Amino acid sequence: MNQEGEQERINRELEARVNALESLLIDKSLVDRHALQAILDLYETQIGPRNGARVVARAWLDPLFKARLLSAPDEAIASMGYTGRQGEHVVVVENTAQLHNLVVCTLCSCYPWPLLGLPPGWYKSAPYRSRAVIDPRGVLADFGLHLPADTQIQVWDSNAEVRYLVLPMQPEGTEHLSEASLAELVSRNAMIGTDIVRAPAARSEVLP
Ligand code: FE
Repeated sequence: MNQEGEQERINRELEARVNALESLLIDKSLVDRHALQAILDLYETQIGPRNGARVVARAWLDPLFKARLLSAPDEAIASMGYTGRQGEHVVVVENTAQLHNLVVCTLCSCYPWPLLGLPPGWYKSAPYRSRAVIDPRGVLADFGLHLPADTQIQVWDSNAEVRYLVLPMQPEGTEHLSEASLAELVSRNAMIGTDIVRAPAARSEVLP
């Protein structure tokens, strides 16, 4: 069995064990299914990517914070109160017009939980984990992202020690926005590198 097949087998076994354990705990009324769902929801949609988005927005607005975020990321992120499991050591990689960063964990699904919440399903999938390294431009195209041919793509492989956060480029025309409004524009995928941040759709002119 090749390495990928072996990893899939391990994942399937692990998933079956987790499901069995979850059912048992629920049957014995030791945990509540709704409480579990609430915790998952908290990490997936609330704590989740919103924290990372606030970090990005602050970096866009505050050059000193940005410099600190790039040179001493753990300290800068902790100063916003985002610490905890799976976020002990984060490296921030900045997108520029010349360089686009893409994050993967080829081995499993290492991910900066305190900033981005729980990883999406595709991040954990074998095809993403292998193709992101072999054909990053093709992966980005699958996500609907077509970068200029001369933009270099740098792929970062996360592991148990280091998690990555992409600092996307601030879209043009958003310089007047507040930190909160800027954070609203920053998607989870933009901080993984499978998307970029776009300016809010220009309002169509209302004709008299
Ligand atoms: Fe991993």
